[in-house]
Amino acid sequence: MGKRVVIALGGNAILRPNQEATFENQLANVKMSTDLIAEVKKAGHQVVVTHGNGPQVGNILRQNEEAKEFVPALPIDVCSAESQGFIGYMMEQTLKNALKENQLSGDVVTLLTETEVDAQDPAFKEPTKPIGVFFTKEEAEVLEKEKGWVTAEDAGRGYRRVVPSPQPVKIHGVDAIKALIDLDNIVVSTGGGGIPVVSDEKGYLKGVEAVIDKDRSALRLSEQVDADVFMILTDVPNVYLNYGKPDQLKLEGVSLVDAKRYMAEGHFADGSMGPKMEAAIAFAEQGKEAIICSLDEAVSALAGKAGTRVLPD
Ligand code: ADP
Ligand code: MG
Repeated sequence: MGKRVVIALGGNAILRPNQEATFENQLANVKMSTDLIAEVKKAGHQVVVTHGNGPQVGNILRQNEEAKEFVPALPIDVCSAESQGFIGYMMEQTLKNALKENQLSGDVVTLLTETEVDAQDPAFKEPTKPIGVFFTKEEAEVLEKEKGWVTAEDAGRGYRRVVPSPQPVKIHGVDAIKALIDLDNIVVSTGGGGIPVVSDEKGYLKGVEAVIDKDRSALRLSEQVDADVFMILTDVPNVYLNYGKPDQLKLEGVSLVDAKRYMAEGHFADGSMGPKMEAAIAFAEQGKEAIICSLDEAVSALAGKAGTRVLPD
């Protein structure tokens, strides 16, 4: 029996570290990733794909910053929407071609997705997520004054704008996603965590300058589309205890209790494996299986033969 699977692709599925961000490089990486996603469809599963956008939205923000004397710079939510279009285009085209090559049924639909956050989220009071280009201290001070930005020193590399990273509350367009997958489409949605929006008391939406963690949004998406399995595909084959140390230990099937204990013991780094394990644990709490594995092991991980699986009680 086919399962409904939400697949969250990590940044390396689009651009590898130290690779130049040309369209050709990114398309070639995306093609490799989507060929593997087509394998999941071939195995008989329904597939919803989501993806990161860090380097891509960073470059779009840079284009806006560098060219602002000629064309007005656009707000972050608009840059986020642009990145969904750009990455979604590459995914949709390569997925369509992979379906054709494998003589598989169905089609591919990419959605521009808004992710609603709470305007009262404490993250808005304390922006922490660095984005976009680096500035000197003097430039940063001018931007804080002129644009009301918050900037912060980033790991000795210079000053960057920091923006809030609020919790995703609701993914918009989920009824459409469900209908589309039931009609045999692969759906690409919630790229880069989704375009951040808030809703007023009457329910009207408005974009906000923030970024939403893609692993957290992928969890919401999985919950809202009633996924049977939530898969986070990244650049490591497993989650490890004592990661990077001589005594590192590979996790395969992990019970919820153990996963929570390891989390509390600090085995999963903030900003990388931390949000993935947090999302995997939250999904497993709902009685379903969450998988963290490398891209090329997606199909065997679904069959229980690879990756790290957080198992419901
Ligand atoms: P993605 O783009 O897929 O979100 P991230 O870099 O955010 O990728 O997260 C994956 C990285 O998490 C791995 O490359 C690894 O360096 C790091 N990591 C931190 N803690 C662990 C751990 N306990 N086990 C495995 N990987 C870990
Ligand atoms: Mg990440």
